[in-house]
Amino acid sequence: MKKVNKITFIGIGLINSSLARDLKGKGFYKTSSAFSRTKKTRNKLRKLNIVDIVEESYESAVRDADIVIVGVPVAAFTSVIKKITPYLKEDAIITDVGSVKKSLITIAKNSLPKEIDFIPGHPIAGTENSGPESGFKGLFKNGYCILTPGANIRKESLNIIIRMWNITGMKVDIMDPEYHDMVLAITSHIPHIIAYSIVGTVSNLEKSIKKEVIKYAASGFKDFTRIAASDPVMWRDILISNKKSILDMLSIFKKDLANLENAIKREDSKFLDNLFSRTRLIRKKINK
Ligand code: NAP
Repeated sequence: MKKVNKITFIGIGLINSSLARDLKGKGFYKTSSAFSRTKKTRNKLRKLNIVDIVEESYESAVRDADIVIVGVPVAAFTSVIKKITPYLKEDAIITDVGSVKKSLITIAKNSLPKEIDFIPGHPIAGTENSGPESGFKGLFKNGYCILTPGANIRKESLNIIIRMWNITGMKVDIMDPEYHDMVLAITSHIPHIIAYSIVGTVSNLEKSIKKEVIKYAASGFKDFTRIAASDPVMWRDILISNKKSILDMLSIFKKDLANLENAIKREDSKFLDNLFSRTRLIRKKINK
């Protein structure tokens, strides 16, 4: 298999810093570098000591890199790809960790030279925290990473990226990008919409009610709304970039919610029993 001399992280927050931690010392590469646009993050990175070199220019960060891993909010992907393209090694492999795949593939196709293999990736793991200080070793362990490569990439490049995720403890699934966006719309993006929306509703209620909600927020409300503390920029970008799949899934969800609302109006115990028994079984399977 091709030797990886240098890997570069472009944007190194929660996800890329966790990946950097997992790869460090595993013999996957000889040198690692990371680019961050802000001095504050660069200083944090130097203290964390999870990459060999911290760079402040795109050019020096990606120069001679065999693998470049883009880990920025999805709306920043276009500008990042444009900025790194002139300095990429001609057989470099570009990959990413973005939560949306189809729109990023279109951007990469329009910007990257044909010889460069772009292997889109999405590790299904995370927390509601941001920044390199929030990352940790083991974030990806036992999870799945979805890769959505095109048909024309070199098989060797794909194998290297699979090996990279396997080192972190992730299993890799190859998927069609449109299918990825649809599956993630219902399993991740809509739960975030609901959490943001219900916390928004609480904050719009009268001040006294808001106080009571915070005071009595039992594990249900707390568990259910944890993700409403997620990074606003990241989620703004994800929801806009995956608009079509989200709107399709949201319309199915709204129909199901209306059915539930009507069952409550009718005091239809049988409907509620059936639904909750079915969902309980499904939810228990997810925990296994
Ligand atoms: P994060 O902790 O907020 O880190 C984002 C990084 O991107 C920061 O290093 C930031 O640099 C940089 N950045 C932001 N805007 C930029 C721009 N316009 N140009 C260049 N750099 C920019 O985010 P994250 O949670 O790691 O998420 C990164 C990607 O992973 C996103 O695309 C997200 O969809 C995906 N993802 C997230 C999760 C999750 O649970 N968080 C899970 C799976 C996938 P500075 O610090 O210098 O500003």
